[in-house]
Amino acid sequence: MIIPKAERKTIQTLTECSCRWPIGDPQSAEFHFCGKNKVPGLPYCEFHARRAFQPPQTRRREREVVEPMVGGAIENLTRKETV
Ligand SMILES: [Zn+2]
Repeated sequence: MIIPKAERKTIQTLTECSCRWPIGDPQSAEFHFCGKNKVPGLPYCEFHARRAFQPPQTRRREREVVEPMVGGAIENLTRKETV
């Protein structure tokens, strides 16, 4: 996922509803955060919440990789997509 420069967030411009997924090298000037509207209850947008809680190298069934604390939110996301 490439974030347009205008939409990039730094630690200074992040808001409470911004996705906090870090992109790039923290040592680099290009480093930024995703900044899209986050999923309520999670620090990330829908895209990054999936990335965070369903690592690609984990090939187990969805239910087994979902953290108990965020299970409800992720389940809602999944449901939305399949409807
Ligand atoms: Zn994001």
